[in-house]
Amino acid sequence: MRTRRGERRHGRGADQPPLCLRRRAERPRDGAARLERHRPRHHAVRARSGAGRRALVIQPATAARDAYDLVVVGSGIAGLYAAIQAREYGASVLIVTKGDIDEASTRHAQGGIAAAVGPGDSPAAHLADTLEAGAGLVDEEAARILCFEAADRIKDLVRYGVHFDQTNGEVSLGREAAHSASRILHARGDGTGLEIELSLSSLAQREVTILEHTQANRIVVEDGRAAGIETFTTTTGERRRFGAGRVVLATGGAGQMYRTTTNPVVATGDGTALAYACGAEVQDMEFTQFHPTALVLPGRPVFLISEAVRGEGARLFATDGHRFMPDYDAERAELAPRDVVA
Ligand SMILES: Cc1cc2nc3c(=O)[nH]c(=O)nc-3n(C[C@H](O)[C@H](O)[C@H](O)COP(=O)(O)OP(=O)(O)OC[C@H]3O[C@@H](n4cnc5c(N)ncnc54)[C@H](O)[C@@H]3O)c2cc1C
Repeated sequence: MRTRRGERRHGRGADQPPLCLRRRAERPRDGAARLERHRPRHHAVRARSGAGRRALVIQPATAARDAYDLVVVGSGIAGLYAAIQAREYGASVLIVTKGDIDEASTRHAQGGIAAAVGPGDSPAAHLADTLEAGAGLVDEEAARILCFEAADRIKDLVRYGVHFDQTNGEVSLGREAAHSASRILHARGDGTGLEIELSLSSLAQREVTILEHTQANRIVVEDGRAAGIETFTTTTGERRRFGAGRVVLATGGAGQMYRTTTNPVVATGDGTALAYACGAEVQDMEFTQFHPTALVLPGRPVFLISEAVRGEGARLFATDGHRFMPDYDAERAELAPRDVVA
């Protein structure tokens, strides 16, 4: 599409609601069965390293406008979801992402995504498990939002085209450590993150402007608030400045600080650095989650062995054959929380 100003856009005009999304007020409020499902164009997927990857047509930075209602930094689940939600409300949205659009931790997530949607389960039970696993360090309000809004966010993902695995017409739920109920939704078996990343990026590419290989280098601050970002496009050497009504930093984690990690190369903690550099307070920097199990083969990338394996009954043995987890947590053993097992 070409606007009056001659700019090419992926989606419709900024003042029009997106074609395949309906505003929140128009959506049915009850019943997963009534959810309107967006069907991603999976025929557009091409192979890369054995995993699916969508062929995208991304504009050069010069084709993007100078300002947007919302600029999102990062194209994992957080950034794509924020961008699509904002677009549903009619905002003009730019996503910048420093690698390929699907280069994010999200595509590597295997085990699944937790939500208390099973029979006999409840958000309150999910919250209790989360507080217990957090050993007194949990931000309870954040955990409450996570647990009580999880089912609605899952419905959003379904509406945006994510297909979770089912058994006999019901969503199939796995069990993972520290959960007292089976509440792990998964997709493509152990390809949950890949399914989410491809579905959301497929929808986003039609609805918002996306610049790949474009990293945010600085947040522009005016009158004490974020007013845009400065970017560098690594493939062309181009530098740009984009104005923004709001800036969302969704840059993922910082696993690349460590010599051995299952995180992708883009996980370098940029969001924290960008925010800190322009005066934001940062918190909880001492917390890094270490996943207990991975496969390390010489000369190969480290491959995470999903917690779902222990959820299905796998046991951990030392090289001398001793099953060691009962020594540390007699009751839960291999199903103790990650920090205990790690
Ligand atoms: C191997 C592995 C397995 C996992 N398994 C699970 C699981 O089973 N269940 C679960 O719940 N979680 C799992 N996780 C964790 C989960 O994947 C992450 O918590 C989640 O995907 C984070 O999403 P995000 O959108 O915040 O970040 P990411 O998905 O990492 O996305 C960050 C984005 O920001 C971009 N970016 C970074 N810096 C810049 C910059 N300066 N400018 C522009 N773009 C930038 C990146 O390119 C990327 O697109 C797993 C993680 C890994 C690594």
